[in-house]
Amino acid sequence: MALVNIHFLNLQNNYLFADIAKKVNAFKVMHPKADVISLGIGDVTQPLCPAVIEAMHKAVDEMATPEGFRGYGPEQGYDFLREAILKNDFRQRGIHLDIDEVFINDGAKSDTGNFQELLHWDNFIGVTDPIYPVYIDSNVMIGRCGVYKDGHWTNVRYMPTKAENGFIPELPKGRPVDVIYLCYPNNPTGTVITKQELRKWVNYALKNDALILYDAAYQAYIRDPEIPHSIYEIRGARKCAVEFHSYSKTAGFTGIRCGYTIVPKEVSVATFEGERISLNQLWLRRQCTKFNGTSYISQRAAEAIYTPEGKKQIQQTIDYYMENAAKMLSTLRSLGYECYGGENAPYVWMKTPDGMSSWSFFEALLYGANVVCTPGVGFGPSGEGYVRFTAFGTHERTNEALERIKAWNK
Ligand SMILES: *Cc1c(COP(=O)(O)O)cnc(C)c1O
Repeated sequence: MALVNIHFLNLQNNYLFADIAKKVNAFKVMHPKADVISLGIGDVTQPLCPAVIEAMHKAVDEMATPEGFRGYGPEQGYDFLREAILKNDFRQRGIHLDIDEVFINDGAKSDTGNFQELLHWDNFIGVTDPIYPVYIDSNVMIGRCGVYKDGHWTNVRYMPTKAENGFIPELPKGRPVDVIYLCYPNNPTGTVITKQELRKWVNYALKNDALILYDAAYQAYIRDPEIPHSIYEIRGARKCAVEFHSYSKTAGFTGIRCGYTIVPKEVSVATFEGERISLNQLWLRRQCTKFNGTSYISQRAAEAIYTPEGKKQIQQTIDYYMENAAKMLSTLRSLGYECYGGENAPYVWMKTPDGMSSWSFFEALLYGANVVCTPGVGFGPSGEGYVRFTAFGTHERTNEALERIKAWNK
């Protein structure tokens, strides 16, 4: 008899974006003529930049010849891309990593979800709250989170980030956390972490022999020169942290699928006997078994982002989205809403007025202005009373949405 992995049955099946789609569809059925604008889901809208398109065409043409054809590539990625990453994303910031510490992935979702496989099932995980749902759900699937009660998993340490604490998570007290997920700039709150605050986490991890899984998917949106782009800007981090990157938000690769993961050779975890196991070795072994690499064409596309033209072009698109973010911040604030994020990240995190719940505000905005936002509570209990707006829309649609919100507020 084939038995199910019962941990999957513990997953909360109300997937946030499916719930939103359901409510939006119900609205559309009742109001078939309404033109709904979504500032909800975190997908990008601007096309790939010319440097990327050119590199992809070239790679396809290469594949069309016997000499240029490529079959299976290295599981950990081609050296041309790994070199470009080391040079542009790290060496220029004074971080020196080895090429075999870089693993090309097919997007950060896979690796942030899969990495926990290397860890014992009864590690105690900690997450900032609210947070990107992949971290918790991937741990639920392996039975690490306990049971779900009153919006919380019993075996997860939630570290709230809200207006009251300036969106700065506090170090866990009591039972030490073994594995810490951090995401900066943050999805969903759009807030960032200073070097000084991040150093506290690295020191905590070193002191408690904990592992930090650091998601830097939005690092390209950082504008403030004081904010770290990588956890390896902090001394000691290469002993305790793994870092995930994605080209999805950096260069519009949500449909191309490419990113990378840094697993420093110095990061190790323990056996019960006290032996130290290198995560770099273990991750390589895991990838060679379960992953056959990101496509050659995608990797050539990613390489093109690091050319002078590529850099300029992706920056233009990032600036385009950040213009939306600035407009959202100023408009919503002028209407009296309390807003956070949006300055070093493509998300604006807004407190709902008069203590409204996230879902009540979501519905009010949908029915009143025909604009879709994301209810903050969908990202965790501390997201209750907030909604998220994304800056990934076009200027036209974003401006139109803001005009409607203004009119609705009158
Ligand atoms: C979008 C996003 C990712 C990246 O996902 P991909 O699989 O690379 O498209 C990773 N982490 C967070 C927090 C995100 O919002």
